[in-house]
Amino acid sequence: MVIIMKPEFTGKQLENAIRAMEEGGVKVMISKGAETTILGAEGDSSRLDEERLTQLEGVERVMRVSEPYKKANRKYHPDDSVIDIGGGVQVGGGALTVIAGPCSVESEGQIVGVAQAVKASGAAALRGGAYKPRTSPYAFQGKGMEGIRLLLEAKAATGLPIVTELMSSDQIPMFEECVDVVQIGARNMQNFDLLKKVGRMKKPVLLKRGLSSTIEEWLMSAEYIMSEGNNQVILCERGIRTFENFTRNTLDLSAVLAVKTLSHLPVVVDPSHACGKAWMVEGMAMAAVAAGADGLIIEVHNDPANALCDGAQSITPGQFSALMAKLHPMAQCVGKTL
Ligand code: PEP
Ligand code: MN
Repeated sequence: MVIIMKPEFTGKQLENAIRAMEEGGVKVMISKGAETTILGAEGDSSRLDEERLTQLEGVERVMRVSEPYKKANRKYHPDDSVIDIGGGVQVGGGALTVIAGPCSVESEGQIVGVAQAVKASGAAALRGGAYKPRTSPYAFQGKGMEGIRLLLEAKAATGLPIVTELMSSDQIPMFEECVDVVQIGARNMQNFDLLKKVGRMKKPVLLKRGLSSTIEEWLMSAEYIMSEGNNQVILCERGIRTFENFTRNTLDLSAVLAVKTLSHLPVVVDPSHACGKAWMVEGMAMAAVAAGADGLIIEVHNDPANALCDGAQSITPGQFSALMAKLHPMAQCVGKTL
């Protein structure tokens, strides 16, 4: 349930409304927006007396929220959330934020070289996996801690904030110290215990949509993180499993519109994992921007043919530069700054 305050409410009236909600057994989340102040009930709101709350002074109206996600719900927070990822970079709020880099960190030359190239083309952040969730235990599993060290070198060389996947709670203290954005991969989207622990971190989280997850399940995973106090969640649409197997996954661009209506959280699109084909990345990246995405996360590799992971969907730094040039007018067209 949410209480929408009248525009001219007083401090005393706000206090009374909060107390009345707390007496009904819920915690209160206050959202002070540009136009409205909203009090959102966190927890079981079945004991709240809607009629009594409606009659309180300073209260404009009371609304039951039927969706199971609350903190992620736009009804609780009408204004778009803007997430600061460090280095002066923001996701949401009118920016088109492009994150680029290889699937996996492979060597110092590779990650620093790609970081410099994507930065020169206008990328705002660097991606690169150090811990890789591979289908086969015999496939390259990532360079682990050494990969994180190399990402930090690339960050030192370019100033780009780093985005990398967290696979296990053992990695949390090290990620808290070294990483700018904690990626939760599609395969861990419903690892609820991990989500709760990430919810206690102080870092922004890029939450990828699960392989076959509904929009509601995805938002409930965001809710897990937010319910522990971490509101810095960036959603990432990366394609879902369908019967179609020409592409690696099916990019669900309608989800971008859905989620931006249902939630205040920013959404970025990963055309690389969605399509699995490098030649499709440009077209789908453009389409994602047209659909209203707040950003893109794109796999870029200096030598895709010899990449240790996801070479087929990786574009070269040259192709990335050409894509960025095309994204500028596209961003302008939808009123975003790139
Ligand atoms: C990745 O970003 O390299 C990755 C493994 O993505 P996803 O979790 O979307 O498959
Ligand atoms: Mn990948």
